[in-house]
Amino acid sequence: MERLCELCGKPIPPERLDALPKTRRCVDCARENGSDIDTKRADIGMDLDTYRDLLRAVRS
Ligand SMILES: [Zn+2]
Repeated sequence: MERLCELCGKPIPPERLDALPKTRRCVDCARENGSDIDTKRADIGMDLDTYRDLLRAVRS
């Protein structure tokens, strides 16, 4: 299932939709304009997109 970013119209990567099923913004737009999903921020103490980047960096 493909979803397009509400801001730039580009497809949102499937791995992002896996992590954030309700997001309507791609990574770039979320970073520049703020994520539309912030419910988890309190749990992990940082922006969820930053957290995902961190996880990816650790794995690679
Ligand atoms: Zn976008």
